[in-house]
Amino acid sequence: MPSSTHALFIAYPAQGHVLPLLELAHRFADHGFAVTFVNTDHIHGQLVAASPELEAAGQQDDGAPPPESGQVRFVSVSDGIPPDVDRNNLGTLTSALMSSLPPAVEHMIQNGNFRCMVVDYAVAWVLGVAKKSGMRTATLWPSCAAVMAAALHLPELIADGILDKDGLPTSKQIPPVGELQMNLAPLAWNAAGTEDAQRQIFRCLSNSLKALGQGTVDLLLCNTVKELEEGVLSEHPRPSILPIGPLPTGLRAGKPVGNFWVEDDTCLSWLDEQPDKSVVYVAFGSMAVLDQNQFHELAHGLELSGRHFLWVVRPGLANAVDFPDGFLESVEKRGKIVTWSPQHSVLAHPAIACFVSHCGWNSVMEGVRNGLPFLTWPYFCDQFINESYVCDVWKTGLRLVKDAAGGVVTREHIAARIEKLLNDSATVSRASELQQVASRSIGKDGTSFNNLTDVINAMKG
Ligand code: UDP
Repeated sequence: MPSSTHALFIAYPAQGHVLPLLELAHRFADHGFAVTFVNTDHIHGQLVAASPELEAAGQQDDGAPPPESGQVRFVSVSDGIPPDVDRNNLGTLTSALMSSLPPAVEHMIQNGNFRCMVVDYAVAWVLGVAKKSGMRTATLWPSCAAVMAAALHLPELIADGILDKDGLPTSKQIPPVGELQMNLAPLAWNAAGTEDAQRQIFRCLSNSLKALGQGTVDLLLCNTVKELEEGVLSEHPRPSILPIGPLPTGLRAGKPVGNFWVEDDTCLSWLDEQPDKSVVYVAFGSMAVLDQNQFHELAHGLELSGRHFLWVVRPGLANAVDFPDGFLESVEKRGKIVTWSPQHSVLAHPAIACFVSHCGWNSVMEGVRNGLPFLTWPYFCDQFINESYVCDVWKTGLRLVKDAAGGVVTREHIAARIEKLLNDSATVSRASELQQVASRSIGKDGTSFNNLTDVINAMKG
């Protein structure tokens, strides 16, 4: 394979970012590219622990030959933080990356003979180095186009007084974006914890935007579907956002998919034993945290519903994973609990009836792709905007809402909403219609299919 098709991919170190970018990297490999995929050392360690086959897909030393055509090789670089520092502090992580990543990438480019570079939008500022070397470049945005459009128009939002100069929302309301009445308050940088963390994340996205302004990004890709965000995409013609989704994460038999935790496949054989459309799937992605009280209330809600359920209880989902007394015995016959599921295969299983989700965008796209109705329970960042798509725009889900007095989503509410959703034929049938829309977009000559084909051809150059 000539070195002209060697592509360099760089991920942002978070689960919901690594998965779709890695799927895109596999697509490039399917089309004959040799791919070098870069994670931070910390994330690489987590991936290898979860998928030992990834170790074989090995590190590349300076001067080693590039990977073969069709191969994805994993490489890791320092994130610039000492090993014992908390990487859940996104401010510290992002700020350190902005210093550590550019020289590491420059070094790789000098030694790698790459033809093109594809990076997460959150690290678009590394592309300056690529442009100096004449490479073609693209970024992937792993959330919806509505939020991407906001990130591409930060200066205008500041000039209009909707955001202050640090990116914090003022009391001024943003006009509707496409069909969405958007609230900018929960955007990434505002949900990042301390004020310093907010400033760092905002600086990071501002730097990505600056890189765009300097002409260092050729293509802006988004893991969405044109037909699902038509309004936003037509209102934001420049710079042009290319929808290429849904990128189906987790479906690569025998190839690393990029999980941070070991998948528990026993839930698939358990699902095989359940009747069609009988199981409530409950999963909150990689970062959401429930307090102990809420965790118990959810367990009681699932118990009270009387329905069969599959619940992902990731390490760290609750402060201490401590089920209510008697809960496990009570639901033994109709409940399955795993620490991490093969989510894509789960959602595609005929036994699944609905998806109780935190509304991370990957989960939303995966639910849509499989025609599932949602019960929405956002935790932070763009998840509130994604919820709004599901419940207000597409009308394929119902909200789970906190009780005003107790501040929790109560067990009675959870059980009642599950029952309401499963008997709501209009919502269930809209979810099936959306599945058709998403399937058409990635099928031959569909909008996402054609965009991705154009992107791959453009990057081959
Ligand atoms: N996921 C998974 N198994 C699980 C839970 C989640 O494979 O048990 C995957 C899911 O398919 C999705 C990703 O993890 O691709 C989570 O990304 P999302 O954007 O939904 O949420 P985040 O983790 O970023 O909050």
